[in-house]
Amino acid sequence: MATQQADTATGPQSNFSHLIDGKAVTGDEWMDVINPATGEVFARCPRAGKKELDRAVAAAGKAFKSWSRTGYGERAELLRKMSEALEENADWMGEILTREQGKPIGQARAEIGRGRGQLDGLSSIEIPDEVLVDDDDRHIELRYRPLGVTGIITPWNAPINLALGPIASALYTGNTIVLKPSPYTPLTTLKLGELMGKIFPPGVVNVIAGGDELGQLMTEHPDIRKISFTGSVETGKKVMASCSATLKRITLELGGNDPAIVLDDVDPKEVAKKLFFAGTVNSGQVCMAVKRIYAHEKIHDALCDALAEEAKNAKLGDGMDPDTQLGPLQNKMQYEKVKAFLEDTKKTGARILAGGEVPEGSGYYVTPTIVADIDENARLVREEQFGPVLPVLKFSDIDDAIDRANNTDYGLCGSVWTRDLKKGAELAARLEVGTAWVNHHRETKPTVPFGGAKQSGLGRQYSIIGLKGYMEPLVISVAKK
Ligand code: NAD
Repeated sequence: MATQQADTATGPQSNFSHLIDGKAVTGDEWMDVINPATGEVFARCPRAGKKELDRAVAAAGKAFKSWSRTGYGERAELLRKMSEALEENADWMGEILTREQGKPIGQARAEIGRGRGQLDGLSSIEIPDEVLVDDDDRHIELRYRPLGVTGIITPWNAPINLALGPIASALYTGNTIVLKPSPYTPLTTLKLGELMGKIFPPGVVNVIAGGDELGQLMTEHPDIRKISFTGSVETGKKVMASCSATLKRITLELGGNDPAIVLDDVDPKEVAKKLFFAGTVNSGQVCMAVKRIYAHEKIHDALCDALAEEAKNAKLGDGMDPDTQLGPLQNKMQYEKVKAFLEDTKKTGARILAGGEVPEGSGYYVTPTIVADIDENARLVREEQFGPVLPVLKFSDIDDAIDRANNTDYGLCGSVWTRDLKKGAELAARLEVGTAWVNHHRETKPTVPFGGAKQSGLGRQYSIIGLKGYMEPLVISVAKK
């Protein structure tokens, strides 16, 4: 497949379009896309409304009839082709991703690579029929069949990786899709649609960009059977309420407030490096970023010093600069939110060990910040900051640390850091989360289920558990006599 140059021209002549029924489509409405490194509009793309959604859903419904009858092997083959196309086009797509999302260019290309991993990994999983009963009277089998048109709604923090998991899951299991990216980061996803349009039969994949109201229309649409939603808890609740009218199947991947519990037997410097990365990668805008650190009193000060050192040395800047480690926050709303967290934190009297500044000039930059001696009830501890501002809290009793870590409505992930792997695994099992890591944080694999406990989500993505969320169980019972 021929590669293309990144086209970031503004105006209706821009090279971005929806993909509906295999065709590149634009409409009367357009929306601006801002580069968070400058705070300025750098591209425009079409904005879909009800008319385009109806066309996309109708096309997906029509394509479902034949696509759902293809086999896993055939579908996996096309997903592999898609993965190859992404590899060939990762360079320029990574550039668009950095310019619309803000993350460093290396991380943008790595995100595309992780997305490819979803396509390859998920389409390698076997979903066997199961024989439940086979006796003289009955042969009863459990099979799984696709649901139909699946709506995929994605957020702005990792638009490509978070689209490709649900895309691979829905398509591999025989569903057709209508995908809507966040209005803050629609461009790379539209380009993804362009590539997919060259590989999949018309109507199997439809990609339409639009605002929040388009997402709501998807959740209300009577011909969409399932919504795979990734985004905030607040919106997730609205999605669930809206989907209830038509009893759509839903997978909700929502926010987190991940704790990392650090025991007294670790090397603080070594752990600080890993925790700093896990807390500030993509400027902290990761659902499963470390968002609260609980440090044993014996290593608390050394860990704080080492974290502060990491923060002071981290290079903040435009993601297109290859030396940049932390880019800007993705949008003005999030920038204002993180600034408000900083102001509130300062008011509580907590100690700012590094950062805490908002650089002058254009772009949505906040310096990486380490905070100590902060009240457990401060907003920075209780809420999801989704920014590069990390609170460190002291503990002396591990039971107390686990209680404090669990004292939240969030339950996405968490981690325990210790040289004692057995004890680490035992403590990890006490965290009320979907994934608990020992000595690492922020790792997913297509074959391992991922999702939130409590208000961090509903259902799981990835693995056979995730794939079954895109299917309806069907029991076939045959009377032998
Ligand atoms: P958001 O909830 O504001 O928006 C997500 C998507 O939903 C966007 O496409 C938006 O246009 C759409 N939307 C908005 N209102 C809608 C409605 N009423 N009905 C249907 N769709 C609607 O989230 P965001 O700010 O884009 O993303 C950040 C949040 O996402 C954070 O809380 C983060 O933790 C979470 N997140 C979770 C995961 C996970 O896997 N658990 C991964 C990444 C991000």
